[in-house]
Amino acid sequence: FRMNAMDVTLEGVTKVFGSDEAAIAALRGVELVVTSGSHVAVVGSSGSGKSTLLHLVGGLDSPSSGSIHADGVDVASLRGRRLVAHRRRLGFVFQAFNLIPSLSALENVTVPVLPYASRAGARKRATELLAEVGLLDRLDALPSQLSGGQQQRVAIARALIGDPPLLLADEPTGNLDSENADAVMGMMQQVARRRGATVLLATHDPDVAQRCDRVVTMRDGMIVAGELTVGPVR
Ligand code: ADP
Ligand code: MG
Repeated sequence: FRMNAMDVTLEGVTKVFGSDEAAIAALRGVELVVTSGSHVAVVGSSGSGKSTLLHLVGGLDSPSSGSIHADGVDVASLRGRRLVAHRRRLGFVFQAFNLIPSLSALENVTVPVLPYASRAGARKRATELLAEVGLLDRLDALPSQLSGGQQQRVAIARALIGDPPLLLADEPTGNLDSENADAVMGMMQQVARRRGATVLLATHDPDVAQRCDRVVTMRDGMIVAGELTVGPVR
């Protein structure tokens, strides 16, 4: 087992979009500690700020105030090459699977590491990951030939090929029926656990959230409840 996890701490994080009368306070003072290797679900109704929170942790946007630390590094202060390096250490899974339609499942998974790894090495790692998510028999399939659940499993393999210490997943089961949602979550958690990665996921599905070690609830840009679940502990 490789232990390869990242801890994340948010202190007094606010995010305001727009200005003056048009200003929208998407985050209004978020305090959150995600311990290394844990799986944390952020739940809350649409518009409560879940995606904004994930974007800030991923360095895709910066907070209006407050601080975000990942492994002790101030994410908001990162610029240029150091910001690119931070993003490269993260895996992202989205609600829309965002696969490249003209590439096979295997090729889609290799895309993030091709600039850094040999083609043969990338294909070997991609094959291993696709085997772990149960798609060894669909390596050459195009996204259009796969079900939604299968496409999301390819996206999960793609997110994890760089061995990221933190996986950010925004409504990863939002386009799936409950049976597929359960299977996809199970595989995502299993692959992440095997690598020791921390998982921070946003969902409005309580069944999905309950699978995590901890569930925090957002409302109007603030975390209003957070508890340890009694689910299976590693
Ligand atoms: P959730 O993911 O929980 O549905 P979001 O983080 O997407 O919530 O949105 C929180 C609030 O911020 C919403 O009111 C949304 O309309 C607003 N918002 C999000 N992104 C932007 C943006 N780029 N520009 C303006 N408003 C935004
Ligand atoms: Mg969202």
